[in-house]
Amino acid sequence: MIIIGGGVAGLMAALAAAPHPVTLLNAGELGVQAASGWAQGGMAVAIGGDDSVALHVADTLAAGAGLCDRAAVERIIGAGPAVVATLLRLGVRFDRDKSGALALGLEAAHARHRILHANGDATGAEILRALIERVRATTSITVLDATARHIFTDASGVTGVLATRGDETIALPADRVLLATGGIGGLFRYSTNPPGAIGQGLMLAMGAGAELRDLEFIQFHPTALDVPGSGSLKLISEAVRGEGARFIDETGAYFMRGNDLDPRDVVARAVFAHAQAGYEVYLDARGIGERFAARFPAIHAICARAGIDPATQPIPVRPAAHYHMGGVAVDAEGRTSVPGLFAAGEVACTGLHGANRLASNSLLEAAICGEAAGRVMAGMEAKPVRALPEITPPKPDAAPLQELMSAHLGVLRDAAGMSEAAEAFAAMAPANPAAALCLRIAQAALARETSVGAHARADATQIHKAA
Ligand SMILES: Cc1cc2nc3c(=O)[nH]c(=O)nc-3n(C[C@H](O)[C@H](O)[C@H](O)COP(=O)(O)OP(=O)(O)OC[C@H]3O[C@@H](n4cnc5c(N)ncnc54)[C@H](O)[C@@H]3O)c2cc1C
Repeated sequence: MIIIGGGVAGLMAALAAAPHPVTLLNAGELGVQAASGWAQGGMAVAIGGDDSVALHVADTLAAGAGLCDRAAVERIIGAGPAVVATLLRLGVRFDRDKSGALALGLEAAHARHRILHANGDATGAEILRALIERVRATTSITVLDATARHIFTDASGVTGVLATRGDETIALPADRVLLATGGIGGLFRYSTNPPGAIGQGLMLAMGAGAELRDLEFIQFHPTALDVPGSGSLKLISEAVRGEGARFIDETGAYFMRGNDLDPRDVVARAVFAHAQAGYEVYLDARGIGERFAARFPAIHAICARAGIDPATQPIPVRPAAHYHMGGVAVDAEGRTSVPGLFAAGEVACTGLHGANRLASNSLLEAAICGEAAGRVMAGMEAKPVRALPEITPPKPDAAPLQELMSAHLGVLRDAAGMSEAAEAFAAMAPANPAAALCLRIAQAALARETSVGAHARADATQIHKAA
């Protein structure tokens, strides 16, 4: 059994499959390029005394703007408390209050305090630390630093994976493969994702002929730190606004007029519109003052590296591609439409998020769905494995696509721009699998003629508010 990707989804799957032998392919050192390790805010779970699965389900459905799969929402949200117990057993140290109970934070569009966090604002790093430690101690899991480039299939389904490590090509026969490769932010000029998050799992799934779903729904985070440098921008968590920070421009105007904690897509559009009107946009956290460093140590360090002291200076921000709601279409246990091919985590589309993800629901989904897929895959009856043919698949290259994706498939879209981008992607697609993926995204966005959730069209009149 092969797992591609060592974020929360892939690691949970590998641990759930044990003692079944697993080869875990990860591009680079485990934990370094995984969005999981960059997650700040936390993991949403309905365990508070005043909370319930029903309330968390209602908030998730409202954020999804009518396009969630209710059965998937109920199943995944309902499994939250059990997966927290599993993570605690695996050694994750979530923050606790003075009484020793798990501390629960509040985020936008959640009706209750239900965000588990760790080390203040370094939740993902703590979850990954514990899972990687467990994986390294599990003898049935072999970790291979290699990049998957192709999924082999025949009439019966999956037959193996082609991976590369430097100049070396590795052919790995297998009758079951899990895609756990994360998101697509790296396809955009401005993104909060690790640079390698360019949708490689989606490209692999496309090559294998798997069904994809909801590709047009991409969440843009309104507050990425806007300083010169690489396209991968550091995130200033919504929790900073939860503590009272407000949007401001260079004239000193608080242009959100108190609606700074509206749903993420609504705020991203407002910030985008203000920037398009020629203003510089900042987050004013000076009201938090000297408490900032203690409450948000990781974000404070990010700002300090950029020469900004949030206690005394506004933080320059801009919207950036953050999360892909769409992905490889999967059932409740991660099965794709190709026998033997599974997907979990951000690369998959379970129907949990609909048109817009509720903050902090993705670590939860990655943990639950990774675990379920790993368990099911380990229990499958083995098929004979065969030798694999020699092929040289084209290498994906996101660089020539990023400006077009940001300009025409970003926060606000219209038919003319999306068509122009689609034409350019189509020309590049035969030699560049990343362009073929961008083409599929553009086609899906063109086909969705209304504005809904995170898919906002300047040429469609109705914007459905997310919540
Ligand atoms: C800055 C930031 C903050 C976030 N904050 C939160 C939060 O507070 N709460 C929340 O719920 N969600 C948050 N998210 C979203 C969440 O972190 C991700 O959706 C989730 O962690 C995805 O997990 P994953 O296991 O699917 O993928 P990842 O954690 O991204 O792991 C994918 C792994 O696959 C590897 N890989 C990719 N392609 C290949 C290939 N071809 N071959 C081999 N390996 C490959 C990558 O190198 C990576 O290690 C945040 C995201 C970002 C970027």
